[in-house]
Amino acid sequence: MTKNISLLGATGSIGKQTLDVARMHHIGVKALTANTRTDILEQQVREFHPELVCVVNEERAKQFKISIADTSTKVVSGKNGMTEAAQIAGADTVVNAVVGVAGLLPTLSAIEAGKNVALANKETLVAGGSIVKSELKKHSVQLYPVDSEHSAIFQCLQGCPDNALKKLIITASGGAFFGKSKEELKNVTVEDALKHPNWNMGAKITIDSATMMNKGLEVIEASWLFDVGDEKIDVVVHRESIIHSMIQLKDNAVIAQLGTADMRVPIQYALTYPERLPSPVKELDLTEIAKLSFYPPDNDTFECLEICRRALRKGGLYPAVANAANEAAVQMFLERKIGFLDIPDIVGKAVENFSSRNETISLQDILEADRETRQEILCQR
Ligand code: NAD
Ligand code: MG
Repeated sequence: MTKNISLLGATGSIGKQTLDVARMHHIGVKALTANTRTDILEQQVREFHPELVCVVNEERAKQFKISIADTSTKVVSGKNGMTEAAQIAGADTVVNAVVGVAGLLPTLSAIEAGKNVALANKETLVAGGSIVKSELKKHSVQLYPVDSEHSAIFQCLQGCPDNALKKLIITASGGAFFGKSKEELKNVTVEDALKHPNWNMGAKITIDSATMMNKGLEVIEASWLFDVGDEKIDVVVHRESIIHSMIQLKDNAVIAQLGTADMRVPIQYALTYPERLPSPVKELDLTEIAKLSFYPPDNDTFECLEICRRALRKGGLYPAVANAANEAAVQMFLERKIGFLDIPDIVGKAVENFSSRNETISLQDILEADRETRQEILCQR
């Protein structure tokens, strides 16, 4: 297989698993980027020999340059460095595994340079879906979902006629606090919220899973990826995370994608599409699992999913505002400055209080709405 990637967010959960896939299938790695954990990045540079590395923070980049001075890898930093990595010559696909809206500009840079994008960074589509979609069209490049639910839907849709889809059914694990009441959620700690039942992920998405914000972001992500409105996207809680999502067709046939919960399957499919290659992921033993369970989401206790649906229906900048408010709130929760239930409160108020000034939105509008929303929330506390 002759494939070369540029990997943004290499030191995170998705980044490391992407390199597992690259190692297994001899995929070339042209560039790597990271914000922190330069210790991990150094090991990656020594194993994969990228031409370019971007360490976002300038001071850390200077230090890093010294650490890898004996290699031929070039070190860059900052936003320009991220652009350089996203546009590096010789990479056909950019894997975006950055966390948060910081992934938006590099996604656009990659598309502009004619690269296909394997997208884990859902915040890119939540905040900038309209712009990303029009840029994809303009530059005739493809975007492949890495998020497991969206990869599952993408897999189910293969061979499905264009007009056959009735709705999407996205599964949700329910996160760390499934079944708890609001009263019980009042005093939960950061450590409690970081205990995800089925997946080992970065801190931000693990908190998002506990609040159900992750599912809200995923509904918005799905609406952009598959061109469907909020009314055609169901969410069902499925504790075992074996069915990764489903599609329902006009004749009410339902097609599901199943497998062991391991992100290396969707990562690999985004890189090898439409091919299927071997994988070290554990085979699914249905008799061992024995039972699959399903529940409706508890939207009264976990309000973020409905807040996101509201933002999606309002359209324009509202999803970007919901996302920015959530990023600020999660940051404060992780710093122990606010309680768990303050997160939906902050996100809900941000969406409620926002009034959109314009119908058609530019990248500038999105970045401004993001910055203003964040600032307002972080300054208030
Ligand atoms: P993570 O926190 O483990 O890793 C994030 C990576 O982004 C790190 O390499 C970090 O250095 C880099 N980064 C952080 N802030 C940055 C910034 N401001 N600019 C540039 N780089 C920055 O996160 P993760 O769990 O791997 O998730 C990454 C993305 O994938 C998120 O959008 C998440 O929602 C999505 N996702 C993750 C999983 C999963 O299983 N982890 C599943 C589905 C989707
Ligand atoms: Mg997901």
